Amino acid sequence: MADQRSDAARAYRRLYSTARWRRLREHQLSLHPLCAWCQEMDIIEPATEVHHSDGGHKGDIQKFWEGPFISTCKPCHASRGQREDLGQTVVTFGPDGWPLE
Ligand SMILES: [Zn+2]
Repeated sequence: MADQRSDAARAYRRLYSTARWRRLREHQLSLHPLCAWCQEMDIIEPATEVHHSDGGHKGDIQKFWEGPFISTCKPCHASRGQREDLGQTVVTFGPDGWPLE
């Protein structure tokens, strides 16, 4: 149901403004201060976002809090993060122009 889905999405968005999430985010960024996706392309970029890897939390409250997480920069999170969350295959290209495994 479209309405239930957006209600759930709104509920999850609220979790991002909790103190618990902010602590978790700071912890993740202190452990992994560089963007994981930029690093795949040999780019050193400070991470500012915490992304739910492994296809996202998909409304799973346990996954929301426990991860797995990766640190990403804002541009990576905005482009690749959303594609992953939609379940689309993400192909990453290396500096030589060939897709990475
Ligand atoms: Zn990045």
